[in-house]
Amino acid sequence: MANSKYILAKERVLRDPILNFIRVEDQTILDLINSSEVQRLRRVKALGVANLVFHGGEHSRFQHSLGVYEITRRMITHFDVNRPTFWNHDEDIVVMAAGLLHDVGHGAYSHTFEHIFGTNHEQFTQDIILNPDTQVNQILSARDKDLPAKVASVIAKTYENRLVISMISSQIDADRMDYLLRDAYYTGAEYGKFDIERIMEMMIPTDDGIIFNEAGVHTVEDYIISRYQMYIQVYFHPVSRGMEVVLENLLSRAQAMYNEKLEPELFFSTIAKVFEVGKNISTEDYLKLDDGVFTTAFSIWRDSKDPVLSDLSRRFLDRIPFKSIPYSESKLRSLEAEVEAGGFDKFYYSGTNNANNIPYKSYSNRNKKNKPIQFAIGGDLENQKGLSSLSTIVKALDDDEITDNRFFFPKELLETDDNLKKIYATSRRSI
Ligand code: ZN
Repeated sequence: MANSKYILAKERVLRDPILNFIRVEDQTILDLINSSEVQRLRRVKALGVANLVFHGGEHSRFQHSLGVYEITRRMITHFDVNRPTFWNHDEDIVVMAAGLLHDVGHGAYSHTFEHIFGTNHEQFTQDIILNPDTQVNQILSARDKDLPAKVASVIAKTYENRLVISMISSQIDADRMDYLLRDAYYTGAEYGKFDIERIMEMMIPTDDGIIFNEAGVHTVEDYIISRYQMYIQVYFHPVSRGMEVVLENLLSRAQAMYNEKLEPELFFSTIAKVFEVGKNISTEDYLKLDDGVFTTAFSIWRDSKDPVLSDLSRRFLDRIPFKSIPYSESKLRSLEAEVEAGGFDKFYYSGTNNANNIPYKSYSNRNKKNKPIQFAIGGDLENQKGLSSLSTIVKALDDDEITDNRFFFPKELLETDDNLKKIYATSRRSI
């Protein structure tokens, strides 16, 4: 049982569209939910620009964070059933707090933002947990002075108990299970569903991480297929990626103008900090940068005298994505020359990206850093087999590596450039 001193007299039950109920019975968890830093996550969209393709995908990092907390809480109850006395309940608060706080350092449009400013949301997550000026730190420290360091080390994946780390970060963890189901629900993608309750019932805790009862092979297989489908259809959507390139180029232009002191009135104080110091921005200033700050900036920049900043802001706010075609590195120069010939500055009106540029991954055993999903054959912990050897479907997906290098350019060029038009017409359904 969790530490009884911190059990709430009255459990709080929060309605959730994915997990039905989120149950809070620990005072520290309730205090963390109510902290300024966690409440801020209501103002950060979970899917970044993907809502510009899937208009339902407007959900926040706040609800995802509550979901990850709830899944860790439920995992613990299944551990107690599946391997009685194995789980050490002193770890409850560590893993539940890590689940709730694992994304607390996420900012607006994190992925693009990090690319431009060199920041790292996982580092900010740890900073927010360890910084004595944050409410999150003060709440954790009041419970146990070592708790902030423990929770931060789970995020950093250096915590001594590997089982705790695997609950938050592994091939089949609370974070991924929550965002896959939640993103599928809000985007309306039917193929993202899988049986999370059954997966949790099959979990067996070990010193090395979570393994699964052999009876769960097909349920886990279904999760992998859902993850693959979400990856291809939602996270990797070429139009989302086209909006990311517009955003990235927009922020690059803003950075250049800030550096050259052009129209300094465009940079109000909240947003000016990150253009001034980049990744050295203080935790306090970083926490102020939510989606609303950027939306306000784009609206102001749209009226800039600078034609590039104004035009890219318009393209972002009015949802005018760059179009894209597959390309090979040897063709990059000539494609950029075509953008220039069409009257656009290639630096601000073209770009590339591929599978390595998005923060989501499909299941793969190729990367040896990823421990494969393991099953206990006949319930025997000594006799384990990896998922790919038990499922031909997963093996086939593992063999199907996706890279999809794409070159992005303004859609106007499809009217004027016959070469781009021809490649575009023949390649639209390449993934
Ligand atoms: Zn997350």
